[in-house]
Amino acid sequence: MQVLQNIEELKTFRESLGMQSVGLVPTMGALHKGHLSLISESIHHNTHTIVSIFVNPTQFGQNEDLSTYPRTLDRDLALCESLGVSAVFVPSVEQMYPSDDEIAILPPKMMGYVLEGFDRPTHFAGVLQVVLKLFMLARPHKAYFGKKDAQQVLIVQKMAKDLHLPLEIVMCPIVRDDDGLAFSSRNVYLSPKEREIALCIPRTITRIESAIAQGVREVRELENLAHQTLDFKSAPIHIFYAYFCDHSLAPITHIRQGESLFLLAVRVGKTRLLDNLWC
Ligand code: AMP
Repeated sequence: MQVLQNIEELKTFRESLGMQSVGLVPTMGALHKGHLSLISESIHHNTHTIVSIFVNPTQFGQNEDLSTYPRTLDRDLALCESLGVSAVFVPSVEQMYPSDDEIAILPPKMMGYVLEGFDRPTHFAGVLQVVLKLFMLARPHKAYFGKKDAQQVLIVQKMAKDLHLPLEIVMCPIVRDDDGLAFSSRNVYLSPKEREIALCIPRTITRIESAIAQGVREVRELENLAHQTLDFKSAPIHIFYAYFCDHSLAPITHIRQGESLFLLAVRVGKTRLLDNLWC
């Protein structure tokens, strides 16, 4: 496995692969089983897999956790190697952003400034900026993203469509820990007590899933169920949103199977946690 620390090395490596199929898995590191499932999927379907590990400053807001974001590079590299990754791209901030006055890629207004983008208005522009650079450099046939970050993958998919990018965006299922909490690099911020409290999140997802399986379609009824299960009055949590929408993030009144989403963002202690259901 090659560890590529700068853009020239990545370009040379990519040239050497010629016409062979290439999968790209963009990450911010601190790899967990969610990331590993994306990597395994890419390895299964492509001759070569490139993983990028880059804590992208442009997608963090002013008061967010950029400086404290977990970094476990040696462990991450060992995991990638054990899975059979061909190369890991670990650029510096200076490599990725040599200029402080760059062309901006803005997310669509209807998708980029609601939900995660409401509290974090520069977030998706930062995500698209780095993802587009990674696509241009790694030139993958397929790029793998988790459904865990539903709004992100839908916006990236729209960028690929709107800009006619010659690659396929592959969406991978949410991977959960034994207690049901979706894996996230930020879960390490949770104390044992907070983790216990956070389990109301997967409980809510499961409850909504069962209600839909039992035939409930009305969003108002499902929203009530979500709020009852989250029970923010007895637990010290803050609900940013519990929202039903379609894949363009427009609100819906009824579930249309295969076309609907339930998006949930909750703060437990100081940690913002996301979960969702593709329903
Ligand atoms: P991150 O390192 O948090 O930027 O995540 C890198 C990629 O891994 C993104 O496409 C995420 O959606 C995906 N991912 C993160 N957590 C999970 C999870 N629990 N299950 C599936 N994919 C995930």
